[in-house]
Amino acid sequence: MSETDLQVKQRIDELRARLAEYNYQYYVKDAPTVPDAEYDREMQELMALEQAHPEFQSVNSPSQKVGGQALTAFEQVTHDVPMLSLDNAFDEASLLAFEKRILDRLKQSVTLAFSCEPKLDGLAVSILYEDGQLVRAATRGDGQVGENITANVRTIANVPLSLRGKNWPQRVEVRGEVFMPKNGFKTLNENQRKSGGKVFANPRNAAAGSLRQLDSKITAKRPLMFYAYSLGVVTPSEFELPEQHSERLNTLASWGVPLCPDITTAQGGKGCLAYYQHILEKRDALPYDIDGVVFKVDDIQLQNTLGFVARAPRWAIAQKFPAQEEVTQLIDVEFQV
Ligand code: NAD
Repeated sequence: MSETDLQVKQRIDELRARLAEYNYQYYVKDAPTVPDAEYDREMQELMALEQAHPEFQSVNSPSQKVGGQALTAFEQVTHDVPMLSLDNAFDEASLLAFEKRILDRLKQSVTLAFSCEPKLDGLAVSILYEDGQLVRAATRGDGQVGENITANVRTIANVPLSLRGKNWPQRVEVRGEVFMPKNGFKTLNENQRKSGGKVFANPRNAAAGSLRQLDSKITAKRPLMFYAYSLGVVTPSEFELPEQHSERLNTLASWGVPLCPDITTAQGGKGCLAYYQHILEKRDALPYDIDGVVFKVDDIQLQNTLGFVARAPRWAIAQKFPAQEEVTQLIDVEFQV
């Protein structure tokens, strides 16, 4: 190995070790040790080095993995359909490059429709309904295996325990984000401060810490909310669902499942950029915390054609917002497992 290659390999190893440790603190302990912007910078550097040096690729690299691992204090749930992450775009050019990659792969030059969704900053959760009744809820975990948090999710006020109407599949998995609205987060931290309890670094950590409690009575006291953003398993598989992701979300809404009110559709990369700008301007006034927006190819058949890479679908991307507070003071967070 040349001197330069050796240096590259050393830097890759260093970044992998650092990112693995950040992941552990963030996903397993719910106690991040660096700001998200720093994490994202190091991850981007690692991905660029791995791309330039495919000889150093590894399936064990943090760039190839989803989230953290499920805590053994909870019963484990294996996801029938893996719960993946999302690729990131940090500027206009990378969003337009995402659109171009998709069109090239589809060998098309049309203007595609995209579902445009705020990227809620909380925790991905899978909620399973059988015969219209909530029977199980789980965290994403490492994407394959999550934690059984059914009792805790049942305490979230806007999660339906039964689906409305009758026209739902026998078994249906609803996926979405559990988050803590800004006002609830403020009140919770004020109360924690007054009672001498630990305060949370941000609404995301407050949501994660509140949801991953062994005692659901604690979760019940926390101001959590849920918004759905996709479907997982549907049985029987021939159950008729709309051909557009956005229409499927409307179907979920018709069953009484809550959706983020700021979801819409747009045409092409340019339409997506306009949505990004619109939500960025609204960001401070929104009642919930977001760290960007998500764009998904709306046509389900095209999604299936595009498929997935190791940790994310090819048909979706998260366009991140500039960090609000790069050097947030990270406060010790409550963690009671
Ligand atoms: P991600 O948060 O970038 O994207 C995937 C997640 O987005 C999904 O799992 C889901 O929970 C969420 N999401 C919100 N709205 C959605 C929508 N409308 N549709 C689909 N998904 C939606 O990926 P990730 O793998 O969960 O986390 C990576 C990010 O977490 C990093 O970019 C970094 O900002 C942060 N992180 C920070 C640290 C740290 O130490 N500070 C450590 C690890 C991760």
